[in-house]
Amino acid sequence: MTAYDVLLYHGVYDTGLQTRPRNRSGKHIPSDRFQAEMRHLAANRAVVSMADIADAYAGRKTLPAGAVAVTFDDGFLNNYQSAWPILEEFGVPATIYIATGYIGTGRMIWSDQLETSILDTDQSHLDIAVAGQSFYYPLDSSAGRVAAFLDIKTRCKALPNEDKDRVVRAVTDTLGHGSSGDHPLYAFMNWDQVREMNRSPLISFGAHTIDHISLAKVPLPEMHRQIDESVSHLARMIDEPSPFFSYPEGQAGDYNDSVIAYLKQRGFDHCPTAIEGSNTIEDVGPFHIRRIMVGFEGRPYPFASVEELGYKA
Ligand SMILES: [Zn+2]
Repeated sequence: MTAYDVLLYHGVYDTGLQTRPRNRSGKHIPSDRFQAEMRHLAANRAVVSMADIADAYAGRKTLPAGAVAVTFDDGFLNNYQSAWPILEEFGVPATIYIATGYIGTGRMIWSDQLETSILDTDQSHLDIAVAGQSFYYPLDSSAGRVAAFLDIKTRCKALPNEDKDRVVRAVTDTLGHGSSGDHPLYAFMNWDQVREMNRSPLISFGAHTIDHISLAKVPLPEMHRQIDESVSHLARMIDEPSPFFSYPEGQAGDYNDSVIAYLKQRGFDHCPTAIEGSNTIEDVGPFHIRRIMVGFEGRPYPFASVEELGYKA
C-alpha cells in the first residue's frame, strides 16, 4: 500500500494581528504556528507536490514513505504575504487553488461578507424575510452578533446557491457591508502576486471555480462554465495550463460523477476533496483525494502535538 496525506490550509496571518471576534472558524492560523508546522513537516515527513501524487496515480512515479503534500484553498492575500516566505524557508512545495472571480477584485467570500456585515453593524437587531424564511436576531451585544452570524451561516449552507446569495444580499443591504475587501482576513491576492509566486519552483496554482460555488448544486451548464472559465482564466494569467483543480466546499454533496466526468473531459487526472482523512493510492480514487484540514474548526496539525511543535498558542 502507498499511503499519503494532503494537508488543507486556508490562511496564515501575521502573529500579533488582533483577529477576535473574527476568524471564529480558525480558517486562518497565526504565522508562528504555521512556521512550527512547516519546520516539523520538512524535518519528519517526505514532502511531495500534488504533481507527484498525480504521477503516482498514473504509475509514472512512486511516492516515498510518509508522503505529505501541502495545499491551500481559495487564494487569500495572506498566502502570499505570510505563508509563502515560510514555505520557501523550509523548502515545502504547495499547491494553491484559487477562486478566479475573487482574484484582484476586492470581492469577499460570502461567509466573510456575512461575518463582517453582522459583526460590524450598529443596528440593534436583524428582522428580515427572504428566500421563504424569516431571520430574526438581536444584535445589541457582541455575543448576540457572533451567535447570529454562526446561525445564519449554518442556515445558508443548507440553501440552494441562489437562495444563499439572496440571504447574504438581504443581510448586507439591511445591516451594511462592514469592512472592505482589503481586510487582512478577507483579502484575496491579485494576479501580479499569483504570477510572482508561480515563478517559484515550490508553488503551483490550480483553479477552484470562478465564484467558489458547490459544483453539484448548480445546473449543468453553470457547472461547466464555472470549471471552463476558471481554468482558462488561470491559464491565461500564468501563461500555461494548470493540471490542478479542487472542488469548492469539497464535501460528498459538493461534487458528483458528472463533475468528475467533466473534469476528466477537460484533461484533469485528479482532484482533491475537503473530505477529512488519509489516502492510499490503491484505495482512494484520484478524484476523491481526502485532505486533512488544519486550523478550521480548531483542527490541529495532525503529525505532532503543540508541545512537540514548540508552538505556544
Ligand atoms: Zn474553497
